Amino acid sequence: MGTETVQNAATGKSLVVGPVVLLGPPGAGKGTQAQRITDYFGIPQISTGDILRDHIRRGTELGLAAKAQMERGELVGDQIVCGMVADRLKQPDCTLGFILDGFPRTVKQAQWLDRHLVQLRYFETEKGCLKQPIVIQLTVEYNDLLRRLTGRRTCPTCGRIYNAYTSQKPLVDNVCDVDGSALVTRKDDCEEVIKERLKNYEDQTLPLAGYYSLRKRLIEIDGSGADVDAITSAVREAIERGDCL
Ligand code: AMP
Repeated sequence: MGTETVQNAATGKSLVVGPVVLLGPPGAGKGTQAQRITDYFGIPQISTGDILRDHIRRGTELGLAAKAQMERGELVGDQIVCGMVADRLKQPDCTLGFILDGFPRTVKQAQWLDRHLVQLRYFETEKGCLKQPIVIQLTVEYNDLLRRLTGRRTCPTCGRIYNAYTSQKPLVDNVCDVDGSALVTRKDDCEEVIKERLKNYEDQTLPLAGYYSLRKRLIEIDGSGADVDAITSAVREAIERGDCL
């Protein structure tokens, strides 16, 4: 399928955003930034963590297979996760671009994604080359991550992410600003599991920075500041600059 350019509702510009990958440790703000970028560019956010949690809620076979690993803070098998992403990418809303949040998380998943994007052929330019993913790595220090993860609260209805300890607080404690639902703490956001997730990140996901850096696709953005809007602007500009690839 060749690409057509569309008028972006937010910017009035014509663009095919293409694939965007948000990398970074748990708690770096991938979910928050992905939600904001989704709104701005009008492309879907694909969060493998959210899809897995939805499977667990619905009690599907896939959810049952993933539940124990997720609760221990371990990574779910590549085969399950890549299959899930392949299914999601078949949806028509992905043809002009999408933001992957939490995927890939291993070099094997990144290699799979590269092969899969070639097969999909959504992002071929007029010259017949493939628009490569824009890969943004959000960097945040370890102690900041711990604080953010223990304070993270999520709306079970709309998925909006808040934080009890940062400027991302809800207007009323523990209540979603948008729909009034009581906010929840994720099961894997307890200290013991958080440490396991951060260790898995260092062992299995951090090598991805090298994978993408070698291919000249990595853009690092400091995600540590309290000014979430400034981080969003930096992410947005990086994506817009990548638009001419
Ligand atoms: P997240 O919401 O991105 O923090 O993911 C929560 C949990 O889902 C992780 O700790 C893993 O157990 C699982 N998970 C999410 N994405 C992946 C992935 N790409 N590969 C393997 N496991 C994943």
